[in-house]
Parts: sequence; C-alpha cells; structure tokens
Amino acid sequence: MSSRPQPRPGVLAISAYVPGKNSAPGVAKIFKLSSNETPLGPSPKAIEAYRQIGEHLEDYPDGPASDLREAIGKTFGLDPARIVCGAGSDDLLSLISRAYLADGDEAIYSQYGFLVYPINTLAAGAKPVMAPEKNFTTDVDAIIAAVTPKTKIVFLANPNNPTGTYIPFDEVKRLHGALPSNVLLVLDAAYADYVKRNDYECGIELVATSENVVMCRTFSKIHGLAAVRLGWLYGPEHVVDALNRIRGPFNVNAPAIAAGIAALADTDHQERSRQHNARWLAFLTEEIGKLGLTVTPSVGNFLLIHFPETAGKTAKEADAFLTSRGLILRAVAAYGLPNALRMSVGTEEANRLMIKSLAEFLGK
Ligand SMILES: *Cc1c(COP(=O)(O)O)cnc(C)c1O
Repeated sequence: MSSRPQPRPGVLAISAYVPGKNSAPGVAKIFKLSSNETPLGPSPKAIEAYRQIGEHLEDYPDGPASDLREAIGKTFGLDPARIVCGAGSDDLLSLISRAYLADGDEAIYSQYGFLVYPINTLAAGAKPVMAPEKNFTTDVDAIIAAVTPKTKIVFLANPNNPTGTYIPFDEVKRLHGALPSNVLLVLDAAYADYVKRNDYECGIELVATSENVVMCRTFSKIHGLAAVRLGWLYGPEHVVDALNRIRGPFNVNAPAIAAGIAALADTDHQERSRQHNARWLAFLTEEIGKLGLTVTPSVGNFLLIHFPETAGKTAKEADAFLTSRGLILRAVAAYGLPNALRMSVGTEEANRLMIKSLAEFLGK
C-alpha cells in the first residue's frame, strides 16, 4: 500500500488558477490586456520609493506595515487598527478562508464570481456553493437561497470580475440583512476606484456598522502595483485580531509598503487613470457594439465581449486572431463563459488596434 503524503481532502479537487497569457509568439509588439493591469503604469513616485528600498534589501520589512496602514487610514478616513495588509488581496482572501472555514463548512460565491473564492474554499477543506447570476449580475436572492446552517462565508466581488457588473448599495445591504450574524460577508472591492455610480458603495459603510463584514482592496489595479503584491482589508476588530494571528509575520514586503504609501499620495496619477479608463471604456463598449457584438455593461477597467457560436466567429477563433495581432485577451471558459473574452482597457494605441482588428476578424 502506498504511504506517500496525501494533501487534505479538497486540495486535489482544485483546478489551479490559470493567469492571463502574457505572450504572443512571433508578434513584435504585444498589448497585454488579459489581467486588468493599468495601461498607465504606477505613479513615478511609487517607482522611486521602490527603487530607494532596493538599497536596503537586507532589512526585514515592518511586520505590521504600520506606516502603510496609517496612510490608508488617512486616505479613506479609517481606523488603522482595523486594517490588515497582505501580499495582494489573494493573501487576504486566503487568510480569511483559513481563519473562518473548516471541514464541512460552506462558502457561497456567485456564478461568474472570481475563481480565487472557490479555490480558497476548497483549500480550507470547505465546500464552494455557487449561486446563479441573472444577466451576468449577482443575484442577491439566489445567494440568500443558498445559505444553509453550514454557510460561514459569502464572497462578493463588487464590481465583479470577469463580468464588470455591480450591484447597488441597497442590494448589498439587503443581502447583509438576510445573512445570519455568524456568516462573514466578504466584499471584494478590487475595482471600486473605477466605479462612477451614485448608487455604489464599496463596503466601508457596512464594515463600519456591523460585526460580520470585511472589505478587501488592492493596489494591483488603479495603483498599477500588481508586481509587488499588495492589498488591504478593513474589518471589525475581532476579525482583524483573528487574521493578525495567522498571517505571515512579514506578509507584506518592504518595496510594496514603500511603493504603496507613495502611490496613495499621488492622487493626480489616480485621477488620470480614472479619466483614461472612463474615456476608453465608453469608447470600446460603443465601438465593439457597433461591430455587432454584445458587451456586458462594465463599471470596471475591463469588459466582457460575447461572440456568436458561428464557425469562424467564435470567441476561441477571435482569441487566436487577436493574439496574432499582438492583442492578448483573457479567455474565460474556466468561468463557464466559453463564448466570451475579457479585455482590459488598454492604451489608446491598444484600444484602437482592438477595434480595427476585431472589424477585420468579423469581416466588417
Ligand atoms: C484583480 C483582482 C483582485 C486583486 O488581486 P491581488 O491579489 O490584490 O492582485 C481581487 N479581486 C478581484 C475580483 C480581482 O479581479
């Protein structure tokens, strides 16, 4: 009988996360539009802060990331003691799962929700429960209907990736109101910085007024710091206390801390990013629509494009064609969306090339 080490149940049920492609063999100039990175790059001030830390790589980082939590607290008007920083929101989502899920528990995520949620749920020995969406949008009633006595976490990306849709604050509050008080509602607001809707709230208000809600944010998107891995969460004191007990003592590296503080201070750069995104998101949505394809209305920095199943016009064929033009999009079949591609808003050059190439692909 084989007696080699066995991972805990659930681990081998995980389909490992496949990141967006980053190359197009044989194409001279490529535009990576597959991971929702910012086309404007990080603030030059963040790059400079990163470089300076490079002179002191022998030093451990500040374990509690106190200066960064202070800076985040000041920026958003939050108590730094209720902030936890992590190596990307991935780190925080994993800490939350490890702290609040055990064997046999359930965690709910929405149909086209971020794949990291079911992965972390399985890794913690728990069962991911999928709540169907309506019109590529979170359906609060379906989540409420999926709650059982075993439910411990509800993961909600708002806006969601890869759909780009969001639910208004009223709906988030309705969801929260219907959850048992022992269920943790995790609001993943990775794209909050891009949303320009009066009925949207990222989660700060709910966290501040309840004991079972946390909000996760990232420096990977609008701040353009995906490479250094930096995220943060705001939560109730008791959740922050639990997460601080299990997080790696130096889970955020020194270059990330320095770059993050500098990025937060550069509000001009953030505003430029927001304006660039608003302009080109609208452009892409309209122009792709004119080519006869359906685009799910997005409030993020990316859009979901739906292709017909007609031979020669499918998402798979479009992906290959666009790749040959240097445009690297994200196939989303793993999300149950085999007929769609997700495109991040790119530079002006990338966005215009996309429309031109798509027209060529469709024979228009
Ligand atoms: C990009 C993204 C994040 C950010 O992840 P990091 O680990 O911070 O880079 C979180 N949630 C969603 C839904 C995302 O799309």
